[in-house]
Amino acid sequence: MKTTLDFIPLAKPHITEDEVSLVTEVIQSGQLSLGKKLVDFETEFARYVGTRFAVAVSSGTAGLHLCVKALGLREGDEAITSPFSFIASSNSLIYERVKPVFVDIDEETFNIDPHLIEPAITPKTRAILPVHIFGVSADIGAINWIAKDRKLKVFEDGCESLGAAYEGKKVGTFGNPAVFAFYANKQMTTGEGGMVTTDDPEIARKIRQFSNQGRSDNGQWLVHDEVGYNYRMDEMSAALGIVQIRKLDWMLKERARIAGRYTQNLKGHPKIKVMQETFQNPGLRRSWYVYAVRLAPDIDRNDIIRRLQEKGVASKPYMPALHLQPVYRKLFGFREGMFPVCERVSNSSLALPFFVEMTEEMVDQVCSALEDSIKGQ
Ligand SMILES: *Cc1c(COP(=O)(O)O)cnc(C)c1O
Repeated sequence: MKTTLDFIPLAKPHITEDEVSLVTEVIQSGQLSLGKKLVDFETEFARYVGTRFAVAVSSGTAGLHLCVKALGLREGDEAITSPFSFIASSNSLIYERVKPVFVDIDEETFNIDPHLIEPAITPKTRAILPVHIFGVSADIGAINWIAKDRKLKVFEDGCESLGAAYEGKKVGTFGNPAVFAFYANKQMTTGEGGMVTTDDPEIARKIRQFSNQGRSDNGQWLVHDEVGYNYRMDEMSAALGIVQIRKLDWMLKERARIAGRYTQNLKGHPKIKVMQETFQNPGLRRSWYVYAVRLAPDIDRNDIIRRLQEKGVASKPYMPALHLQPVYRKLFGFREGMFPVCERVSNSSLALPFFVEMTEEMVDQVCSALEDSIKGQ
């Protein structure tokens, strides 16, 4: 992808000489998996989030799947989750024949609406899977309360919300296993990769065991106590992760700076709703993951995307509603209108270029391109 001003991509990882030299060091060492970098990355990650354990895995999706396994969810169970997400969250349930039961979202935070959880509980409900979308924590206080009251398990999809906080506590520290992801467009990257955080030694042990072919932890390589997976993270990815987590707070500040510029440029535009920085719950702190504006209903979004592309600016409808994905319509018979808030948000949101290396001039260029595209319609 070009990063010059003639085409502005949607996302771009921030990779410097520091990453290059540590990854090179690992490759030259010959220890390419299950080495010291993995241990160091897990240790630093657990310290950053503030949990006792962090288990590195090969992707966020793998981490979510392992949570389903570690919590013992199985065929015939139901789990309540959000339809406004990336498909990996609900797919993790389907892998184990657990039925995802969607409930609609809150239009302010785009996260699962806790008021709609209770009515969706059936005798088969075993778990709640909140997704902390767009860098904002779901209402975990309410969710944990319902789960305790109704004896449900909770695991959290924090793949878009590393560094976000709820009432002074970071995502990952709400008492449930939580999953983070390091694909190249996330707040930090390892290429492919993920992490599961927990304070529970038994959950941590199970996640590690399932990620490593079901091996027992007695050190015997060819003794398998469970049917596990190869969901391990390699040493090159862990090395990338170490460099990235050390500068994560700085990268989050840069992302907040870029978001601030977008908001300043676009707020007040009659056809554009900018992203919210503060919420009715003053205890929510966003970790900037995407910058997605909402376009007025009379705007033809696909046409805007085409016009932006012609002006050298990438953009994307983000995110599509999960229940309307062809595979879910087919599997579960979902239709339009079932989750109206999710559909309204989904049909109007447009992700704009957003990455650490964006300059003020690039943000301004994107904003003028967007304003011109709207004028041209
Ligand atoms: C990125 C993401 C994941 C998982 O990502 P991987 O590509 O498997 O690492 C899961 N859930 C959400 C909401 C995400 O944004």
